[in-house]
Amino acid sequence: MSNITFTMLKPDSVRNGNIGAILDKIIKSGFIIKAMKFTKMSNEKASKFYAIHSERPFFNDLVEYMTSGPIVAAILEKDNAVNEFRDLIGSTNPEEAEEGTIRKMFAKSISENAIHGSDSDENAKIECEFHFGADEIY
Ligand code: UDP
Ligand code: MG
Repeated sequence: MSNITFTMLKPDSVRNGNIGAILDKIIKSGFIIKAMKFTKMSNEKASKFYAIHSERPFFNDLVEYMTSGPIVAAILEKDNAVNEFRDLIGSTNPEEAEEGTIRKMFAKSISENAIHGSDSDENAKIECEFHFGADEIY
């Protein structure tokens, strides 16, 4: 079991002024910030990040959405971080997300769903290294 996960507060969260509220919820849920940056992904970077979904019908819209404005990317630490964080963010579709989860509170739709969370320890490591160099992690 790893204690690290990767997140992005997606462009809709930045646009709608929800960064502060979402980070507050993450920190109050016991996650420690190990790295953080405010950045805008290029088309190439977003396509690479979501390469696993490249054959899905929503891929082009997903890349367009994820490059439509800046994001907040972060590495978070907590025991059982990946599973705990997926619980905190809720289902991909906010209509199916449980009460009190970040997606239930802040997401508008299954596509513009406020936040990303790694789905496995293996992908958490890949995603952290994709966005951060060793000298940016504390
Ligand atoms: N997505 C979408 N339509 C779908 C499924 C997913 O637009 O039917 C988008 C959504 O932004 C989601 C991302 O693609 O967060 C990655 O999908 P995944 O199934 O990995 O969901 P997640 O792990 O983010 O819950
Ligand atoms: Mg996923």
